[in-house]
Amino acid sequence: MTGEDKQIIYRLLRTASQNVYGYTVPSFQNEEFKEDTSAAAGNTAIQRAPVQSSSVHQNTVPVQNPVSKPVSPVSVPTPKPVQAGGMSMGDIILKIARCTKCSLARTRANVVPGVGSRNPEVMVIGDAPSPDENNSGLSFMGAAGQLMDRMLAAIKLSRDSNCFLTNVVKCAAPQNRDPYPEETEACFGFIEAQIKCLKPKAILCAGRVAAVTLLKNNQNVNLSLPVDQLHGQFYEYNGIPVFVTWNPAEVLKNQDLKRPVWDDLKTFAAKLKEVSPSYASLFEQA
Ligand code: SF4
Repeated sequence: MTGEDKQIIYRLLRTASQNVYGYTVPSFQNEEFKEDTSAAAGNTAIQRAPVQSSSVHQNTVPVQNPVSKPVSPVSVPTPKPVQAGGMSMGDIILKIARCTKCSLARTRANVVPGVGSRNPEVMVIGDAPSPDENNSGLSFMGAAGQLMDRMLAAIKLSRDSNCFLTNVVKCAAPQNRDPYPEETEACFGFIEAQIKCLKPKAILCAGRVAAVTLLKNNQNVNLSLPVDQLHGQFYEYNGIPVFVTWNPAEVLKNQDLKRPVWDDLKTFAAKLKEVSPSYASLFEQA
């Protein structure tokens, strides 16, 4: 870890402290950190300040964006490393926070790496951060985010316990447009790394951009189809079942989608019970 990485993590934790506790704890003073610039001391500083995560956005607090300087919320690396071929979730988040691989880096307010469980049954992948997400740095926020939470709760999934929510691109596009193919391509390595790291039992793509990006190498999928023809069936990404449904933002605009989305969720839950005994056990306990 470089000295710059340590500074980034320090800023993450300092802002986490300010937002979670409402004050800056003495051990987070700049001067003290400057003294701790050796590798060992830097690690000590990080361990001294564990971030509590009892809120809806587990392990996630607003922090400063090291790329664009203004305040930028990103998920704070947890003390517990989750490794994916040598890359932990903390490593991935740092890379996202510093990324300038596409033009969205110039227009974003905040990077939006994702929120939720670090040991999820399910990864929910949306198209791109909405204006609410861009402003907060947190995935699936605002009315659409609340609807997503209700949809997940209906099948015993939650960002608090067994779900990780993110998007295929980590920065919002201007005027809330869909990301361009070159932007999804530039960002693909991050979703790929997150999936490797989190190892979900199943993936729920919420939206067409998410579906066609994740399934781009799947020869059996006609990626020119709209969601109303892609939804309701299972595909595969590196051996993981992938299911497609509508993004909750679309459901908010078209209430007629509520019924097919609910049918989709029941189909998805049935498959998840098959591949995940721990998920199936949630229904036995009911
Ligand atoms: Fe980097 Fe992805 Fe953001 Fe583009 S959208 S700048 S590739 S993190």
